[in-house]
Amino acid sequence: MKKVFKTTNICRYLTNLIRTLLLICVVIVIVATARIYYINNQEITNPQFTDGDLEIVMIDVKNGDCFLLLQNDKAMLVDTGYFTTYFNVQSILEEKNVQKIDYAIITHSHRDHAGGIFGLLLNYQVGKLYLTEKMDDLDMHFTEMLFYIPEISMIKYTNLFAHNIVDVIVGEEDFDFQFSDSEVQFLGPISSNYSRLNNYSLVFKVVYKENSILFTGDMEIVNEEELLNSNVNLSADILKIPHHGSRTSTSEAFLDAVNPRYAILSSHNGKHNKYGHPVKRVVEELEKREIILYRTDELGTVELKFNGKSIDFVQNPGDYKTGMQVLKEKRSDNRM
Ligand SMILES: [Zn+2]
Repeated sequence: MKKVFKTTNICRYLTNLIRTLLLICVVIVIVATARIYYINNQEITNPQFTDGDLEIVMIDVKNGDCFLLLQNDKAMLVDTGYFTTYFNVQSILEEKNVQKIDYAIITHSHRDHAGGIFGLLLNYQVGKLYLTEKMDDLDMHFTEMLFYIPEISMIKYTNLFAHNIVDVIVGEEDFDFQFSDSEVQFLGPISSNYSRLNNYSLVFKVVYKENSILFTGDMEIVNEEELLNSNVNLSADILKIPHHGSRTSTSEAFLDAVNPRYAILSSHNGKHNKYGHPVKRVVEELEKREIILYRTDELGTVELKFNGKSIDFVQNPGDYKTGMQVLKEKRSDNRM
């Protein structure tokens, strides 16, 4: 008799818990929907950020990616970092007085690139949102999914909030666009079927007069080979090192084709970087070729400017250390 009573109590408790959680989810979705609707139905303009120059900020989002591009009165965001690092993104947007994101490109749906999208859409009007294929194939922590799934589903499938969603399938049509005085040229991915989400990363070049930067998401060697075989012009002044300097990417042939003067790399000198990004092979290749490296694990947020002819970085370059070396040095510094 006693046992039956206990089981009934546990069942009742679980039913109440599930009901409460569902109710919380529904309330979150309704409040978020209302807020996004409100933000997207306002007339918002940006101030004049630059007088022609293209400013690029590699925001420190631990082992994720997030880049802010500003030119004249236009703002563009490439990836959004983790859900948990969104506050870093927000503070840079506030520091730069960004009122509206004219373009946002999410290279792929991994949490270190797409996790901050909820915070972004909840706080900013996004003019055009460029998504890659397989955005629904989520690989995230439960807490991130809780926010991300309703967000992406609602926006993508119902298009309720005046967002202009562009599903970029490279090769299918011309998705290139003009970002203020610069050109955004989509180059990859080339195929439509891959075994890993990283391979769906959008690859694109941003060109302002004589200066250019190649964004690569977390693409891997399979994508690099496809790009090389496609004979597209990969050369760029700056290469955003693919996949945080992982062993899966940045082949010698790819580096030869891009032939950059500078490389930028986002990784973390803490527990987020359990993979040891960047790995020895990648930093050695960069050093051998005298490609100047800027990295968030050593420098934090990195800022640079294109004036159409030359490129100026605000910070001094980083070293050619592996992620593991940077991590070890930080630990020994902390011990002293
Ligand atoms: Zn990544």
